[in-house]
Amino acid sequence: MNAIFPLDPHPGVLVVGAGIAGLACARDLAHRGIPVTLLDRGRGVGGRCATRRVDGQPVDHGVAFLHGSDPAFLDALHSVPGATLLEGWPSRVEGTGAPCQPDAFAPNERRVAFAEGVTAFPKMMVAGLDARLVTTVVGLHAEDDLWRLDLAGGGTARARTVVLAMATEETLALVDGLPPGDLELEGARHLLRMVAASVPCLTVIAGYPTDVPAPAWDVAFPETSSILKDVVHDSAKRQDPRWTVLVIQAAARWSRQHAGEPVASWTQSLLSEGARLYGEWVAHPAWTQVRHWQFGRIESGNELSGPLVVEGAGGRTLGIAGEVFAEGGGVQAAWTSGRLLAARLAERTIG
Ligand SMILES: Cc1cc2nc3c(=O)[nH]c(=O)nc-3n(C[C@H](O)[C@H](O)[C@H](O)COP(=O)(O)OP(=O)(O)OC[C@H]3O[C@@H](n4cnc5c(N)ncnc54)[C@H](O)[C@@H]3O)c2cc1C
Repeated sequence: MNAIFPLDPHPGVLVVGAGIAGLACARDLAHRGIPVTLLDRGRGVGGRCATRRVDGQPVDHGVAFLHGSDPAFLDALHSVPGATLLEGWPSRVEGTGAPCQPDAFAPNERRVAFAEGVTAFPKMMVAGLDARLVTTVVGLHAEDDLWRLDLAGGGTARARTVVLAMATEETLALVDGLPPGDLELEGARHLLRMVAASVPCLTVIAGYPTDVPAPAWDVAFPETSSILKDVVHDSAKRQDPRWTVLVIQAAARWSRQHAGEPVASWTQSLLSEGARLYGEWVAHPAWTQVRHWQFGRIESGNELSGPLVVEGAGGRTLGIAGEVFAEGGGVQAAWTSGRLLAARLAERTIG
């Protein structure tokens, strides 16, 4: 298999996953002068902090807004250049159902969104970094004092330090391929299995002409539905939207039960439930798109206190970060875990 970098092994750190955790880690490593390259299977950065454009209009179809209480994280959110920050969004909340992150509406928590979409944040974080997109890592192997990553399509990349910054289940898929026997690795694998409890989320993005009776709320958390987790009035974040857009997200248990059904079937169910709750017009969108988040988010209370670092032969080091590796889960925890991991890796001799 051919190495994808001219320098083999890579002289610094390879970070798998350009979501918020991987970006935070890579950015801090780069600031410390450590060469770093991000690999991500996606066409853009951000992972579950995801915006797509529909008819030119941004639509956030993963996390709908960003929130936190850590001053450093809030500073980072407020320093996105050229983006229109919507301070305090969502301010109009309908219903008393549970939000995705229980802390999101706590008194000390601040919430923001971006008119350009939540990916304004990861796009800012990737500026100046070496990120290889559409690059899927399919295998992880130990080779003497190096890690070898096998890539879809046949290439390889080697480095002494590798960071895995993905949903826990995706990290496990790579780590489980490593042979047993290494005690430190076994410990990490055990911990990963304990916290691998991401919940799925079936999501329908529904577009309506702007003359529909658009809701007077930004986000609804229905308390009387076993089908819907939340409905986001996405176009309320946009300047002069062409479409009124709802992002309708199914409850975790319902998503798990219905994920195997035809897309048209669960799309119809989510639209019908939206119509029951918010008006008949919801059942008749001009267009729909869908997203099946297989590992959407974690139920809080399952997190570890910090990222993992596993040391192997000759200084070969594996770092593991992601939302489950800091208190509270969600975007802030992903960011915190990536930064903590960068600090721990920088303490070691790299390269
Ligand atoms: C519907 C939904 C609602 C949510 N609501 C909230 C909320 O209200 N508040 C909150 O704080 N958080 C919320 N979250 C969770 C939040 O989005 C995540 O906690 C956070 O974005 C996770 O960041 P991460 O970097 O840990 O992982 P990810 O964002 O998943 O990033 C991992 C990256 O790794 C890449 N990758 C995976 N496997 C491979 C591979 N084999 N090779 C190459 N690349 C790979 C992926 O493409 C991805 O870009 C929500 C998520 C969803 C889906």
